[in-house]
Amino acid sequence: MTQIAEAASLESLKSLPFTPRMPVLFLGHGSPMNAIEDNEYRRSWQELGGQFGKKWPTPRLVLCISAHWLSRGWWLTAMAKPKTIHDFGGFPQELFDQQYPAPGAPEAARAIGMAMRQPDTHKPLALDEQEWGLDHGTWSVLKPMFPQADIPVIQLSMDYGRPPAEHYALGQQLRALRERGVLIVGSGNIVHNLRAMQRTVSSDQAYDWAIEFDRVIGEHIAQGRLDALSGFQSLGQVAQMAHPTHEHYLPLLYAAGAVQPGEAPQSFNASFQGASISMRSVIWG
Ligand code: ZN
Repeated sequence: MTQIAEAASLESLKSLPFTPRMPVLFLGHGSPMNAIEDNEYRRSWQELGGQFGKKWPTPRLVLCISAHWLSRGWWLTAMAKPKTIHDFGGFPQELFDQQYPAPGAPEAARAIGMAMRQPDTHKPLALDEQEWGLDHGTWSVLKPMFPQADIPVIQLSMDYGRPPAEHYALGQQLRALRERGVLIVGSGNIVHNLRAMQRTVSSDQAYDWAIEFDRVIGEHIAQGRLDALSGFQSLGQVAQMAHPTHEHYLPLLYAAGAVQPGEAPQSFNASFQGASISMRSVIWG
């Protein structure tokens, strides 16, 4: 990015006034049923949401990067009323009946889109004014956190065809938004292998490869080695098993990219669903 382009792009953020710095979150979302079941994960999200307006300011806007929105190029939702997307199958009707009517934020999306550059093409982010909405990676965690649905939400898509380092680089561009009242939420899972899932095991049981991958990534996070997170594929077979496809890992890179140097992480929900889904979640700030 040239100096001039950078100055021009930051200009567009002027419409978002400065605020005290917001934390940045990576949330393991796991099964869509966590949105409606009374379990430890949903309770943790309810508790976390309750800390905004106390420990942290109430966000002006939530920007969520969900494992479930993959695209060519990078897009921001920019509709006034994003629809609730039920992007799953084989679940009870109660889950399909869920709605999360949080407003969008077309003006903020435009300003943020203009301020950012896609890592490969250096173009501003593309704006989606009608197609997407809020998928379950977003609403299954935000509904327990902010049940009033009164905080505007936008989603940022991920170009799955691009290398992990570019996702991390885009996350670094999100950093400035934390000083503008924007809560950045990466929603995925640090280990995610649906095929290997076992439905009857307890949350302290998991495959050896799942425990190993989760441990290595958890240590990188704890030690502040966030640059190392985009190199997860160098773990070879263990990484292959943890992520036969890696869309659930990528949201972690956005959250980690948005961390300021030296910010201490706080891990929670360090347990497994179905032996092959790590629910480990992290708060920075
Ligand atoms: Zn998912």
